[in-house]
Amino acid sequence: MNVTVWNEFKGQDNGAVKAAYPKTMHEAIKQAVEGKDVSVTAVTMEMPHQGLSDELLEKTDVLIWWGHCHHGDVSDELVEKIKSRVLRGMGIIFLHSAHMSKPFIALMGTTCTLGWREAAERERLWTVSPAHPIANGVPVCTVLEHEETYSEPFDIPEPDETVFIGWFKGGNVFRSGVTYRRGLGKVFYFQPGHETHPTYRDENVKKILRNAVRWAYNPDIRKTPLDCPMLEADEK
Ligand code: ZN
Repeated sequence: MNVTVWNEFKGQDNGAVKAAYPKTMHEAIKQAVEGKDVSVTAVTMEMPHQGLSDELLEKTDVLIWWGHCHHGDVSDELVEKIKSRVLRGMGIIFLHSAHMSKPFIALMGTTCTLGWREAAERERLWTVSPAHPIANGVPVCTVLEHEETYSEPFDIPEPDETVFIGWFKGGNVFRSGVTYRRGLGKVFYFQPGHETHPTYRDENVKKILRNAVRWAYNPDIRKTPLDCPMLEADEK
């Protein structure tokens, strides 16, 4: 399985983010999900083709996306290519502030807005669908000492499945782990992961990311989109 981790990275090469992720956030995510049958490529927006050449995208089975301050800089052409590959069967995982990324909004069709504050509050991440493959081996409650607070209402379509709900010390709640199918592809949105907190080094969060990659994997991604054939009747 080929996983690509895409991180906008711009602006993350500084004190607070470096303290949380000495080897960069995309390296931490890469380390969390790579394994003997999972090969991971980490890329950033500053690279040629904004990190995702046609060649790399077409060999990606599951794409993990982290973006925050530079959503608008991602080219619309690239967004269309990503959406097309999801509809043909690629899995995609959107992390944290990727709720406002162009590919997520393109796949959801809503504003994807939410309430937020940066107060480093404690989050309790509740597993509300313990039988879901993404929750496999994950405790009923994971405590993250410091996270950015995200709050409902979260303007997304009704999820196919809600796997996690986050509670924040300030009183807010949020649908923190939700799944969708779009075309032949699977989509997982996961809220934890503000860049100045070491969330992707938490063992439970790492397990969730590993589970999500396996869940989203489809070994038969089509080369061409689903078409719209005129059909002869099977019975006369
Ligand atoms: Zn954030």
